[in-house]
Amino acid sequence: MGNPHATSIAAMVGAGKAVTSETFAGVCEVKHRLMQAFLAATHELVTLQKQQTTALIAGDPEFARFEALIHAAGERKDAVKYQLISHMQTHGC
Ligand SMILES: [Zn+2]
Repeated sequence: MGNPHATSIAAMVGAGKAVTSETFAGVCEVKHRLMQAFLAATHELVTLQKQQTTALIAGDPEFARFEALIHAAGERKDAVKYQLISHMQTHGC
């Protein structure tokens, strides 16, 4: 990952800082949109995993119902990830 934007954005996310439009100043607009979509999909997946963990700890016998939701969220995240990779390869951004 030699892109300085990618490195600084990853550092911001790692530090728990909000990722805003300003974060992506100078980044290709399509890449920007796909990165936001990827972050949103990742957040959704993590949220579902937390909810499942909470349900399990609470003794909810239905905790497995999250599996289908988690699977679907993972597929959406992967789909966006491949769109992003494909765009970066064809656009060179
Ligand atoms: Zn681009």
